[in-house]
Amino acid sequence: MSTEPTTSPHNEEFNFFGAIQGYLNQAARELQLPEHIHAILSEPKNEIIVHFPVRMDDGSMKMFKGYRIQHNNILGPYKGGMRFHHSVSLDDVKALGAMMTWKCALMEIPFGGAKGGVKFSPRAHSVDEVMRVTRRFTHALGNNIGPNYDIPAPDVGTNAQTMVWMMDTFMNSVQNVDKNAQRAVVTGKTLTCGGSRGRDKATSQGLVHCIVEWAGENRVRLEGKTAIIQGYGNVGSNAALLLARLGVSTIAVGDHSGYLKNEEGFNAHKLAEHVKGTGSVAGYPNGVEISRDEFFTTRADILIPAALENQVRVSEAQRLRVRLVVEGANGPVNPQAEKILEERGIDIIPDILANSGGVTVSYYEWVQNRRSETWDLTEVDERLEVAMKRAYQRVMFTAREREISPRSAAYVLALEALATAFAERGIFP
Ligand code: NAD
Repeated sequence: MSTEPTTSPHNEEFNFFGAIQGYLNQAARELQLPEHIHAILSEPKNEIIVHFPVRMDDGSMKMFKGYRIQHNNILGPYKGGMRFHHSVSLDDVKALGAMMTWKCALMEIPFGGAKGGVKFSPRAHSVDEVMRVTRRFTHALGNNIGPNYDIPAPDVGTNAQTMVWMMDTFMNSVQNVDKNAQRAVVTGKTLTCGGSRGRDKATSQGLVHCIVEWAGENRVRLEGKTAIIQGYGNVGSNAALLLARLGVSTIAVGDHSGYLKNEEGFNAHKLAEHVKGTGSVAGYPNGVEISRDEFFTTRADILIPAALENQVRVSEAQRLRVRLVVEGANGPVNPQAEKILEERGIDIIPDILANSGGVTVSYYEWVQNRRSETWDLTEVDERLEVAMKRAYQRVMFTAREREISPRSAAYVLALEALATAFAERGIFP
């Protein structure tokens, strides 16, 4: 594997929350959003920071720092992922929490926006240590989360198992008779513990619905086309698997360990098995090692950034050789890079639309838990397809009508919904 360090999402010029605020400001101008609503949406309602001790396997004790940003709840309970990564910061979770507000509003889901996480690298810890971090973090958050108030989900570095530990810890903090009413405190759980069928692939399925719509609009036949995918975790690996079913082959991939190319197209399933077993794409036998630079300059039809924010910057944008960028990750293309892609005629399906399949099926999971129902996969898939296609068409229609980018159009639609709710409810007291 290439030994060059992978690029950190953070550098001196990039301020994630600032970038998201920029999009908000632009859409607020476009909509002539009332100033007081713009001001309210410019800051999260609550910023929670907790410090908590965790016992390590060797008996020593280590302090951890956790965050939960509750951005807005006018449309429903706060909702958003929990990230376990060494680069987690207040700035990151503020940006990601705000994006959840826009995403739920755009998708017409009755949830608000939140995001949280713990600043540590789960890869550097044993499973037991990660479990204790999760449980102590959940305990430290206390009543700041709850099935009617704030509902976490998986994000980078967390998964269904993490969610089940959170659920179990939360359930154990209430009286016995109330325990099972707490199942909906998190989504993205395992199926046995109240998860929804189709949640594991939901974000990627949503991406693929967007790609299919884009192909239809642009008269592109997807069969025989190629993709390159950065990040081979939940979103990246499922995207490769679903694209393969449409005849789109993934010819380059990369993650925190480095990048690989296979001109014939990777076997998405075997590569996913390898990553599950070893933790990264490193050492996968059927691929040639390439540099990060070579990855971003590989000629292909579609790029799916599905790792972290700020990965496509000016230098990548100038040299990308794709037709379409579908933002699996949140904030992977920075604002300067976006301008260059626009000038170069490279289409972007923006994050708050493209990756909203995850929160959409999280909502279905929450509904199933509260109704004590279990939907079959077909039902989940059909509902998601309708929701994604409708959102895609609304965004592209608004973009054409107002002559703005799809990203601005997605923000405009989200802000319209929020502004209407604010106007109807007024400001208390
Ligand atoms: P994950 O932890 O399953 O996978 C993350 C991937 O990113 C891994 O392959 C990891 O190796 C890679 N990565 C980490 N640091 C990297 C670096 N410096 N360079 C290159 N690759 C790096 O996480 P995920 O759930 O797949 O989330 C990926 C992205 O999708 C995030 O931006 C997340 O916010 C977004 N997202 C996830 C969901 C969801 O349902 N899981 C929903 C919406 C958006």
